[in-house]
Amino acid sequence: MNYDAMFQSALDGLRADGSYRYFAELERHSGQFPKAYHYGLGRDVTVWCSNDYLGMGQHPDVLKAMHAALDETGAGAGGTRNISGTNHYHVELEKELASLHGKESALLFNSGYLSNWVTLGTIAGRLRDCVVLSDALNHASMIEGIRHSRAEKQIFRHNDVEDLEERLKAFPRDIPKIIAFESVYSMEGDIAPIEAICDLADKYGAMTYLDEVHAVGMYGDQGAGIAEKLGLSHRLTVIEGTLGKGYGVVGGYIAASAPLCDFVRSFGSGFIFSTALPPMVAAGALASVRYLRRSSAEREGQQRAVAYLRDALDRVGIPHILNPSHIVPVMVGDAELCRALSDELLKRFGHYIQPINYPTVPRGTERLRITPTPLHSNEAIDELVDALLVLWQERQLKRSHAA
Ligand SMILES: *Cc1c(COP(=O)(O)O)cnc(C)c1O
Repeated sequence: MNYDAMFQSALDGLRADGSYRYFAELERHSGQFPKAYHYGLGRDVTVWCSNDYLGMGQHPDVLKAMHAALDETGAGAGGTRNISGTNHYHVELEKELASLHGKESALLFNSGYLSNWVTLGTIAGRLRDCVVLSDALNHASMIEGIRHSRAEKQIFRHNDVEDLEERLKAFPRDIPKIIAFESVYSMEGDIAPIEAICDLADKYGAMTYLDEVHAVGMYGDQGAGIAEKLGLSHRLTVIEGTLGKGYGVVGGYIAASAPLCDFVRSFGSGFIFSTALPPMVAAGALASVRYLRRSSAEREGQQRAVAYLRDALDRVGIPHILNPSHIVPVMVGDAELCRALSDELLKRFGHYIQPINYPTVPRGTERLRITPTPLHSNEAIDELVDALLVLWQERQLKRSHAA
């Protein structure tokens, strides 16, 4: 058996349909975000597609907390949470996250991916006859967790409460149900009808599981997300978030009732049998969460940059999806073109935007997903839009109006 040939032929398939992934090798400069050194290019570029949405990855409070905890506690946690790995910072961070979302309890994971995978896998897998109703655009981590649970799954049309209700109706009231969805969807930037979904959950006796990964730190008075902004936190059974995007560090969590968190803590294999986050990571995330609970300047700066970018794109007619979030998808609609535009933006203009192609988005909806941060100045945004306009003109691409 030639195993490598098998691997290679699968990879050739990816290359043939344009979905093979190339990584940009970057060195982020602390203090100079969104600038980063691009190894392939041999020079600094401006990063426009980072999920360090607020630049917290270089925030002085976060770095100071991490340095202090590193010196104090050393490099790693030293074990799983159960066997010597629970450090004071983990406990403090869980308390802070519970309080942030107005829940009794919270549970930390090594990533947001794991928090979705473990929580959905454990709850849906262990509650007898549980059914999961999952939004069609849910993130891979939820899909894989649900699959792992082997529970019955119903996929409802994206953000479609009528379709969701039709599906809920079909099940007896007295079997456990979970409605799993996101607040801000990362590729479209649209927002779920959270209140209507909670109403349905009440009507049909379902739990609600909300992934707020693309909202925590960024929405609500304290940065707890869209549910906080809409005054709905108390209506959700589980709020899940990441510490790696808006909070700029790494890790994931759920916030929920004490029994639910204890259940996942006690039965979730992917939680139990994995080394805890380094205490310095928990300390950095704690500093980030605390800072963003009291400071709105970063959220306001992000909204300013997003509005400025949308206006600048509209002025020259570069087509983008209008949505209520901070995600600005510039639509291209062709995999090769999307890659070529990204390449030219990088090589000629020093702007880095990773092309988003199938299977991350459906074919024909390929896009450049731009996530401006408070650290992207208006001048930088003007430069980016000028560069996009040059490319749109050279290639005579469709514009949203004749500017
Ligand atoms: C990125 C992402 C995750 C995973 O979070 P990580 O902390 O990066 O592992 C979960 N859900 C959604 C919607 C995401 O985009």
